[in-house]
Amino acid sequence: MKDWVDKLRDTLRDSAVRPQAPLRPLTTLRIGGPAECLVELGSEADLLALFDLIESAALPFLVLGKGSNVLVPDEGVKGVVIRLGKAFQRIGRQENLISAGAGCANGGFVEQSRKWGLGGMEFLIAVPGTIGGAIAMNAGAHDGETAQFLQAVRVFRAGEGIKTQDAGGILFAYRTSPLRGQEGVLVLGGEFRLKNMDGQDIKHRIRTFQSYRRETQPRDFPNCGSIFKNPPGDFAARLIEEAGLKGEILGGAQVSEVHANFIVNRGGASSAEVLALVDLARKRVYSLNQVELELELQVL
Ligand SMILES: Cc1cc2nc3c(=O)[nH]c(=O)nc-3n(C[C@H](O)[C@H](O)[C@H](O)COP(=O)(O)OP(=O)(O)OC[C@H]3O[C@@H](n4cnc5c(N)ncnc54)[C@H](O)[C@@H]3O)c2cc1C
Repeated sequence: MKDWVDKLRDTLRDSAVRPQAPLRPLTTLRIGGPAECLVELGSEADLLALFDLIESAALPFLVLGKGSNVLVPDEGVKGVVIRLGKAFQRIGRQENLISAGAGCANGGFVEQSRKWGLGGMEFLIAVPGTIGGAIAMNAGAHDGETAQFLQAVRVFRAGEGIKTQDAGGILFAYRTSPLRGQEGVLVLGGEFRLKNMDGQDIKHRIRTFQSYRRETQPRDFPNCGSIFKNPPGDFAARLIEEAGLKGEILGGAQVSEVHANFIVNRGGASSAEVLALVDLARKRVYSLNQVELELELQVL
């Protein structure tokens, strides 16, 4: 076992430290090798101690939410993979301002908001991730996106520590932000301004979005949602289908027969197979339509 793993075990008081932890079960695609060391973070004090060690040992790190938009390499991930534990799952409100820890599940956030009679972010019911992942990815659906409601965000940056930052100055864009783990930032929580709404109306919106998903997205096999961003004025799924790739199989991976912008794991798919399908889709779509598809999926 590595020295630094022992040091992490000795130093972190509130967190679980797991060397060689399988990441496959922590992603919705169910693909990929282990983390050299997985840390389930239990407190902000541990976060600061963890980064003292990450910086002094120059360890690579990344952040994982519910793993609903990531592809983990077959050989696994070097360094530290950080997940936010229970201490980051609190949710509270002051009038129509909700503050939620980055570890809260989107579904729980929407349900709790509904109970408080606060609405607007029901679209998150269809996005199977965490509040941290929703902020980092500026998750959105059904004409809504996370940044529209975000007022402030609590972040950690290596070398700078923990700060609460006004959301107004952050450059959110379509399915991305400068707050992703890959940018060396950890989102610890967010404050959202929601609208006072009738509980029945909120319930109706939730049901409508859920049934739309059931009808339009694959449910039989593990997947990670949309692989590509929609190019301006078009849909990635339409372009991939037009390129004749709907249903295309490579080993255990398949371009979904239900929605061509999804790749499903039909059993035992490797990360390399998913990437080969991604490559094929990009090349075929480009040669047919001269459109360069941009990845939404985060390849770790
Ligand atoms: C069936 C299905 C449907 C989907 N539909 C949609 C949809 O309609 N709209 C949509 O936007 N997305 C959709 N997605 C994609 C995905 O759910 C979202 O991108 C989600 O916001 C990712 O959240 P997560 O917690 O799972 O993050 P992960 O997948 O674990 O991570 C995604 C990225 O965010 C970073 N990240 C995660 N947490 C943090 C944090 N606390 N701090 C800093 N960076 C962090 C990671 O480092 C990584 O770069 C879908 C996925 C699935 C499986």
